[in-house]
Amino acid sequence: MTVNSVALVAHDHKKPELIEWVSANKDYMDHMEIYATGTTGRLVGDALGRDVHALLSGPLGGDQQIGAKIAEGSIDMLIFFWDPLEPMPHDPDIKALLRIAALWNIPVACNRASADYLIRSPLIAQTYNEPRPDFSDYTSRKV
Ligand code: PGA
Repeated sequence: MTVNSVALVAHDHKKPELIEWVSANKDYMDHMEIYATGTTGRLVGDALGRDVHALLSGPLGGDQQIGAKIAEGSIDMLIFFWDPLEPMPHDPDIKALLRIAALWNIPVACNRASADYLIRSPLIAQTYNEPRPDFSDYTSRKV
């Protein structure tokens, strides 16, 4: 696997930090498709002056759209600056997105330091030979 696509999501109080982060690291993402929840995507697109696949806003289903794309294999990495100081009405969706990312074994960063480590990893530019998880035993199980 190589990282060809990244999903970016930031809660409202974290958006300035994400915008700063993407601006500082845009060269690392030049070759990647960028997916994002609606408002995050608009801000990232404006900041970088490039196309971003902006999905629905997170609370309106955008987190679930990103989760579905991870499950389909079209998103390889998730940068998710969620807000640890604010309760969210779409908390179940946030939890579901983090679960799907863990299930499908994609790299995830939930804060700036982790995002820095991830984006500068030499593995990003190489072929990372960890296969997508094989759930065929699960899907063919007899119930
Ligand atoms: P937003 O969604 O980018 O549309 O603000 C983010 C979220 O709250 O999950």
